Amino acid sequence: MKIGNYSIYHVIENCFLGDGGAMYGIVPKKIWSKFVKPDEDNLIHLHTNIYLIEGNGKYILIDTGFGNSLDAKAKRIYGVTRESGLGNFLKQKGLDYSDITDVVLTHLHFDHASGLFNENELLFPDASIWINKKEYYHSQNTNERTKNAYPALKLSMLEKSTRVNFIRNDEKEISKNIFIRHTGGHTEGHQIVEIKSKNEIMVFPGDIMPNRFFAKIPYVSATDLYPLETMLIKKKIFESNNKYKNLYFALTHESEIPVISFRNLPL
Ligand SMILES: [Zn+2]
Repeated sequence: MKIGNYSIYHVIENCFLGDGGAMYGIVPKKIWSKFVKPDEDNLIHLHTNIYLIEGNGKYILIDTGFGNSLDAKAKRIYGVTRESGLGNFLKQKGLDYSDITDVVLTHLHFDHASGLFNENELLFPDASIWINKKEYYHSQNTNERTKNAYPALKLSMLEKSTRVNFIRNDEKEISKNIFIRHTGGHTEGHQIVEIKSKNEIMVFPGDIMPNRFFAKIPYVSATDLYPLETMLIKKKIFESNNKYKNLYFALTHESEIPVISFRNLPL
């Protein structure tokens, strides 16, 4: 699909099993289980969707998913049984990891950032990598609640790389009409991406809106560290982009309709 001069491609990077209660937070199971059926262990099927944006001489990747470097224990816990879909996708497009010019990470949780790495090195040898400075700090300074969410040791490699840009500003335009915006909410350093054209906007909301169920403003995941912030940010995204004819969301954990369109604020 296209927004302005940019083409956007959806890639199913991988699939995993998440706990339904952790995912849907305070939403009663009676409601969310109509949307998605959990298995007997209350687990639900989720995707790690990543997106490639092509245009203006760039190939920009939004998030990297699990990649191929998860250890056996992590694969078992999260029910990851497949290889990453990114390698195949790139091959089919006649591209290689070295063709990617930019990688934007919405945040550094292992289901979004592990795919940055091979065993012990950074993939994407020529890409600029865009990470929020606060997010990096918290990946290296975890607490009892956050420590299992980050591939911290691997991420510490980023500090030595000259290709990593640690973003300190609230907004950064990384290519014409493509903006990274700091949000907080899911984590303190969480950020989203927006592509704008005259009449349309596509938002990559990361884990602020992991699937279409979360388009409703008060539906916030239990994994969010700052749930009230998440709620306000969603509201702001809908309200501030009301002027566009089409407002699209490219969703990160949606397993049926990865890109959805909303014009009005869902209650
Ligand atoms: Zn996630």
